[in-house]
Amino acid sequence: GAGAPVLSVQNLEAWYGESHILHGIDFNVNAGEVVTLLGRNGAGKTTTLKSVMGIIGKRTGSIRFGDQEIIRASSDKIARMGVAFCPEERGIFASLDVRENLLLPPVVRPGGLSLDQIFNLFPNLKERLNSQGTKLSGGEQQMLAIARILRTGARFLMLDEPTEGLAPVIIQQIGHTIARLKKEGFTILLVEQNFRFAATVADRYYIVEHGKVIDGFANSDLQANMDKLHTYLGV
Ligand code: ATP
Repeated sequence: GAGAPVLSVQNLEAWYGESHILHGIDFNVNAGEVVTLLGRNGAGKTTTLKSVMGIIGKRTGSIRFGDQEIIRASSDKIARMGVAFCPEERGIFASLDVRENLLLPPVVRPGGLSLDQIFNLFPNLKERLNSQGTKLSGGEQQMLAIARILRTGARFLMLDEPTEGLAPVIIQQIGHTIARLKKEGFTILLVEQNFRFAATVADRYYIVEHGKVIDGFANSDLQANMDKLHTYLGV
């Protein structure tokens, strides 16, 4: 069952310079849930994740994490509270090998996964330990990007389009990984374009359109919302 709200976002507005991108985003994520933000390209999903991580210069409204208001907190402080962001472009350092990439982010809290626990989740990475970032497939890079944040001790994970550009068999593996992380008590906020994938892991959905959350429903109500969803996503 759903726990207490871990993240509660209210009337979030955000700007890139003069560009006003988010116009009042409202949603929440409960402990242990997988919540997915859906919406068309440019709707503001990535900007929402970046705002929670504190890496958007100007943001207003309220973002509560646990019992703290973080709308004005630095990204550094937010990271130390146990929030991690896995960007769409994955951010693997090409000139570092897998081990070096894994060891790069600082451990911010106790409870991070050991390398052995990471290899248990991602056996491929163990085999590729000494391979350079550039030599990895897209799927391996994505797994490395997720593995890397698990080491830090973060318990709230934001994953931006982890399946983008990957083959179906790899997408399935990422789905299994997310399901396993959920089982181990992580809370996950996901951005996805691949709705069929999202449906295999999400507890709830929010629809983002023009910088606002315009709808939301539970996975158990998915069938009843299918027609609306097709309209929102234009598929
Ligand atoms: P996508 O899947 O295309 O990333 P999204 O819903 O995640 O879609 P965002 O990336 O949040 O959308 O982008 C929202 C809007 O902000 C878009 O109009 C985009 O062009 C604009 N935008 C994104 N990044 C920047 C930036 N660094 N500077 C200025 N505008 C930006």
